[in-house]
Amino acid sequence: MEQVRCPPFGCSPRDTIMNNMSYPAPRNSKAYIKVCRQNALHRQGGLCHYCDTPLTSETVTADHKHPRAKGGRHTSMNIAAACSDCNNAKGNMTEGQFFKAVKKPPSATTPFPIMLAWMRRKLNTQTKRSSRRLDKQFNPSVRRSSDVP
Ligand SMILES: [Zn+2]
Repeated sequence: MEQVRCPPFGCSPRDTIMNNMSYPAPRNSKAYIKVCRQNALHRQGGLCHYCDTPLTSETVTADHKHPRAKGGRHTSMNIAAACSDCNNAKGNMTEGQFFKAVKKPPSATTPFPIMLAWMRRKLNTQTKRSSRRLDKQFNPSVRRSSDVP
């Protein structure tokens, strides 16, 4: 497995690249996009931004929330970690358009990749919910971050 350095929060990919390399990486370099992708994955708790599927540093892809084809910039805040299926299904949609598409229950006219994204999202949400319920039932003493007094 590839070793990936995860920079601390608040550190921009450019700073990280400059600290780890002897030259400043241009914004469109592979090294820059790789650090952006890893930062996004860390920020998102290792899950796909759209369907919550667990990702690894090998399976993650960098998605431009506001697509480059529509003038989206190549910056770390515009890059989300996504699974390749969501990234392909999203295409040139904006983040908002894609969320709207995958949150709506599919109909006969829903494109197949969007339908699959809706299913992944639903499955992951329900798995998380069931897992929390089981945890509460069998480990009642464990404090969760959601149990704020
Ligand atoms: Zn996904």
